[in-house]
Amino acid sequence: MMADIPRLKLAHLPTPIEELPRLTKALGGPRLLVKRDDQTGLAFGGNKTRKLEFLAGDAKLHRADMLITAGALQSNHCRQTAAVAARLGMDCKLILVGEAPERPEANLWLDLLFEAEIEYVDRARRDETLTETFESARQQGRRPYLVPFGGSNSTGALGYAFAIQEFVEQKVEADWIVFPSSSGGTQAGMMVGVRVFGCRSKLLGISVDVPQRTLQERVAALAGETSKRLGSRIRFLADEVAVNDDYCAAGYGVLTEAEREAIRLFAQTEGLLIDPVYTGRAAAGMVDLIRKRFFRKNETVLFWHTGGTPALFVEKYSSALI
Ligand SMILES: *Cc1c(COP(=O)(O)O)cnc(C)c1O
Repeated sequence: MMADIPRLKLAHLPTPIEELPRLTKALGGPRLLVKRDDQTGLAFGGNKTRKLEFLAGDAKLHRADMLITAGALQSNHCRQTAAVAARLGMDCKLILVGEAPERPEANLWLDLLFEAEIEYVDRARRDETLTETFESARQQGRRPYLVPFGGSNSTGALGYAFAIQEFVEQKVEADWIVFPSSSGGTQAGMMVGVRVFGCRSKLLGISVDVPQRTLQERVAALAGETSKRLGSRIRFLADEVAVNDDYCAAGYGVLTEAEREAIRLFAQTEGLLIDPVYTGRAAAGMVDLIRKRFFRKNETVLFWHTGGTPALFVEKYSSALI
C-alpha cells in the first residue's frame, strides 16, 4: 500500500536536529533541541515542502499543468507551492486574502518572482474564488490541481507521518515535540507517524489561530483519514490531540510582546531565526510553559521548527523587532 503513494523528492532530508545549549541555559532547563524543518531546502524551506512532496506527486500522477491554492498575503504555503510549480514547469494560481499592496514584500514578493498569478480576495470570497478559478481553468482546457488550504488533506499530511519516521530513524530521544499548529496537517501527520512508526515522544501543538476544540476535532478527523492512506485505519479521538490555544488570542499574524521576546531570545542566544507568525508564537508558548514548569527539568523538549522565516522581512514585523 505504502509503495503506491506517489512522492516527489523536493526537500533536503533528513533535516538536522541541533542542541540549543545557550537557550536551555537562559531558560534554566529542560534540555532544548530543534528540528530544522526551516531547512527543507525549497525556496527558504518550511513544513509545506514535506506536504508538497506528496501533493505535487499526486498532481503529477493526474498529469496536472497548473497548481491552484489559497492563503494569506504572507502565506508560506503559497510561496512554497509557487516554487514547486516553477520547479515542475507548471503554472501556479494563488488566491490570497487581502488587498494588493503597493510594494509586495517577503513571501508575496517571492510568489511574484516564481511567476504565480495572484488574485486578491476578501476572506468571505476565498473558497468560492478557489472553486471558480479551478472550474474556469478546466473549461479553458487546462489540467489544474487544487492544493488544499495549508496543504492540509490526507495527501499533504502524509509528509508529516513520514517526518516522524525520519525522526525515529535519527535516534534522538525527546520527551516532547512542540510545534505550531494551524490548518492541522502537520499535527495530524505527526500523530499518524507516532502510531505507525512507534515514537515515544509526546506531541504538543501550540495553536496559532484556532480555538482548541476546533483544532482538536480537525486534527483527529484528518489523522484518521491519513492513517487509511497507510493502510492502518486508526481512530483518533479529539481528546487525544494535544493542542494548547493559550497563546493565540491576539489573532493570526499579530506580533505581540511575547513573540517579539521569543524571536529575540532565539536569535540572541543561538543565532537561530524563527518567524513572526507561526514559530514565534509556538516558541513564545514554549517559553511560557517552561517558566510555568510545565516540563520537568530533566526532560528533553524538541522544538520542531516549521519555517516561515521570510516573513521576518515584512516591514511591519522587522521594524517592530529591533
Ligand atoms: C503552515 C505553517 C504552519 C502550520 O502548519 P499546519 O499544518 O497548517 O498546522 C506552521 N509553521 C509555518 C511556518 C507554516 O507555514
